[in-house]
Amino acid sequence: MKKILLLGSTGSIGVNTLEVIRKFNDIFEVFALTANSNITLLEKQVKEFNPKFVVVKDKNKAKELKNLLNGKCIVLSGSEGLIEITKNGDYDILVSALVGFAGLAPTIESIKRGKRIALANKETLVAAGEIVIELAHKYNSEILPVDSEHSAIFQCLVGEENKTIEKLIITASGGPFLRKSFEDLKFVKVEDALKHPNWDMGNKITIDSATMMNKGLEVIEAHWLFNLGKDKIDVVVHPQSIVHSMVEFIDGSIKAQLSMPDMKLPIQYALTYPKRLESAFVDTHFPTLKELTFFEPDFNKFQCLKLAFDAMTEGGTAPCILNAANEIAVDKFLNKEIKFLQIPELIKKSLESIEILNKIDFDTILECDLKTRELTLTLDT
Ligand code: NAD
Ligand code: MG
Repeated sequence: MKKILLLGSTGSIGVNTLEVIRKFNDIFEVFALTANSNITLLEKQVKEFNPKFVVVKDKNKAKELKNLLNGKCIVLSGSEGLIEITKNGDYDILVSALVGFAGLAPTIESIKRGKRIALANKETLVAAGEIVIELAHKYNSEILPVDSEHSAIFQCLVGEENKTIEKLIITASGGPFLRKSFEDLKFVKVEDALKHPNWDMGNKITIDSATMMNKGLEVIEAHWLFNLGKDKIDVVVHPQSIVHSMVEFIDGSIKAQLSMPDMKLPIQYALTYPKRLESAFVDTHFPTLKELTFFEPDFNKFQCLKLAFDAMTEGGTAPCILNAANEIAVDKFLNKEIKFLQIPELIKKSLESIEILNKIDFDTILECDLKTRELTLTLDT
């Protein structure tokens, strides 16, 4: 049995991961579950999956859950609880599915123990890719992508040598505003931005998909995962989200990975790799797909995508600033404090105001993240 520590079990990736574990309960068991504050769902999950530990970020909610569970499992709390469990817990695989920068520190603790990381939390690689990849090599920790595009690329690369890659072609659905004009984007509402055409995900990544920042973050994620520069990574809009991404090789051949969109597929692959196990989560029936279309992304309309490419080229702490400013801007948009098009404006201002450092260590990243958050919170729009 492989023991799983699932960070963020009440989220969209968390719930999908538990569906995969439920299906393969003869090979996987849950060692620990963690959540921010949704103890109603967490309690149900504990009753079904019997973990040894749970961690609740919110300390009051942790106390409440402890009373509800009545000794059924050990309840830890706060960010220190997340570090404690990743640093000392007895598990085989970490599923890193917290949202945002909060996922970085516990993921690093797990990497330092040489664990397999099923990585959904892309912000970890965006903010601190260089450190994370270096540590993964040093401690022999395998990072298996859960993000569907990166899982697709990873699958296309099985049996291939990295030096034969001509380029990665990352597909983007284009989100709910693909067909709107720049003018229309001025007036879009939170409710419209939360309606993703193809995927059912947490609020932050759904807004990131609407601004196309998600694709920008994914380009940076791919840069670190596959050790390739900007000139080797293309983005192509593919509204149907059937081709999850592609790799073009030096002989002109292109491999793609396709399926109906369902995150359980890349989650399962990250957990069972190098094996493929039988499951019936998705059924892709070509005659009913009608058409698969592809076109260039509009960098003028989706300024976040351009900001992300630029931050990647700049390097150093620029992607960390981009990420932190984006998290604050998205929060402000979700709270209806700013308009949709002010998201890229705030990020741009933050990138222009904060000094970009080239020498990166963990403390520099923590400081840079904090400083950017403080600044972005106070910026006028
Ligand atoms: P979500 O908002 O649905 O879930 C986030 C989880 O993290 C929840 O369990 C929540 O309780 C917990 N959490 C949030 N903030 C926390 C904090 N500060 N401390 C501790 N716990 C906290 O998000 P999601 O859609 O599941 O996405 C999770 C990650 O996976 C993100 O990085 C996202 O970009 C990535 N991802 C998601 C999808 C998807 O289909 N949802 C696809 C690809 C990648
Ligand atoms: Mg993705």
